[in-house]
Amino acid sequence: MSAGTHENTAKVAGVEVSTDHYIGGERVPSRERFEVISPMSCEPIAYVSRGGEEEADRAVRAAKEAFPRWASLGPEGRGTYMRRLADLIDENVESLAAVECEDMAMLLRSLRARVIHRGARNFRAYAGLAASYEERDWRSQGTWNRVQRMPAGPAATITPWNAPFMLSTWKVAPALAAGCTVILKPAEWAPLSASLLADLTEEAGFPPGVFNVLQGMGEEAGAALVAHPMVRRVSFTGSPETGRLIGQAAARNLVPFTAEMGGKGPLIVFEDADLEAAARKAAGQYDDAGQVCLAGTRLLVQRSVAREFLELFDRFADEHVLGDPRDERTTISPLIHPDHLKRVEGFVERARAEGHEVLRGGRRSEVGPLFYEPTLIRPKSNDAEIVQREVFGPVLTIQEFEDEAEAVSLANSTEYGLSAVIYTSSLGRADRVGRMVRAGVVWVNTFLVRDLTAPFGGMGISGIGREGGDYALDFYSDLKTLQIQEGSTR
Ligand code: NAD
Repeated sequence: MSAGTHENTAKVAGVEVSTDHYIGGERVPSRERFEVISPMSCEPIAYVSRGGEEEADRAVRAAKEAFPRWASLGPEGRGTYMRRLADLIDENVESLAAVECEDMAMLLRSLRARVIHRGARNFRAYAGLAASYEERDWRSQGTWNRVQRMPAGPAATITPWNAPFMLSTWKVAPALAAGCTVILKPAEWAPLSASLLADLTEEAGFPPGVFNVLQGMGEEAGAALVAHPMVRRVSFTGSPETGRLIGQAAARNLVPFTAEMGGKGPLIVFEDADLEAAARKAAGQYDDAGQVCLAGTRLLVQRSVAREFLELFDRFADEHVLGDPRDERTTISPLIHPDHLKRVEGFVERARAEGHEVLRGGRRSEVGPLFYEPTLIRPKSNDAEIVQREVFGPVLTIQEFEDEAEAVSLANSTEYGLSAVIYTSSLGRADRVGRMVRAGVVWVNTFLVRDLTAPFGGMGISGIGREGGDYALDFYSDLKTLQIQEGSTR
């Protein structure tokens, strides 16, 4: 591994990665660079171009220039490029997975087996979905009516550092399929796989400017991008704090935006549930060191089975292996960055100081510099910060409830509303509770299963707008109604 402070490429996990922006089909460096570290060693692995207003402007102009031609290709024409890109992603799984693993420490085996391929699937699926869109035609009041989708224009997509490759494809694929051109601003803690995606779009023959990567800090490159008046859509995934800023910037330009933000999902276990399955899944919420927006981090367990559940949970939690994400045995890898470790630690320290009971973990692990032990906290009250705020680390809380009404009330008691998990063997209860819980997605007796055509997004401070299926294609399009007076044309 090597990384020169002024070099335009870095060798990461044996893979050559460009550390510059990708704008209008060219690699563009910035004078300043920022350091990217490996979460495993805390050593620098790359120095990446640090863009600002100038680079953001250049990227948006490139996307605007490329837009008319890309839009005019139609869904079928664009689909040809997207399927080629999907094939290239599948062919390059090894290098994409190796770089992503080094950059943000997701488990290498998951990246290889699932996560990167899901990125490819997104491009393939959206190529198909866009092509199968049927314009709606009908007659009314003496006119022929038709609803059409028109590509919106250059789209700014801003992504977080957890699962950065896969999450970026959730935005880039529908935007491109809908006929938008794209500027992707990846997170500064894990920006490298976006650069590899740019290489693959070039190899797939995408016309210059259709896909651009702008590197840099959120408050510099990101802010300049979303404030740019030529951007016609803004799609953001990250924290609610940043989401508010993005929303303000988009509003100033009267540009539609979607925001997928944090979560504090409940995992509700009823007494009639398969307790072993529920406890296993609950302990699985420590996967990816808890850096998963959809995680069920608030365990809510019916009082009658709470003791039995906790015993099972402990058994499964004990099976976790903290270690190098490249190691087959590892189940929990390090946190992304020293600042994030301090943030996670701060939550637990404050919870301890407030007198909430730390049932397991609650400290750094000696396995490596950025490891934190899987932690379980029993809060004294539901309004505790540790219950109400997203930690985004391997920290869960456990609370008991008496009946369905109390379970629903606790589940809906935070400002978030991204996801919820329910364990019950009763279909009636699954339906009743599932309907009452405020969350963008509710899973019953399962977790993280996603149908690409279903809407995805959050309620409350977890999100505005929806991604997924036609919902995303509508977002990246301007919907238009065409009306023709009957009998007025031949
Ligand atoms: P973040 O909000 O700090 O950053 C997200 C992105 O926004 C980064 O690319 C960052 O550079 C950029 N950014 C920061 N300030 C900006 C500004 N002023 N203008 C424009 N862009 C700016 O979030 P993060 O720490 O990277 O990611 C973790 C958060 O993301 C967690 O809250 C997590 O729950 C959330 N998340 C949500 C989903 C979802 O689908 N709902 C998925 C993954 C992560």
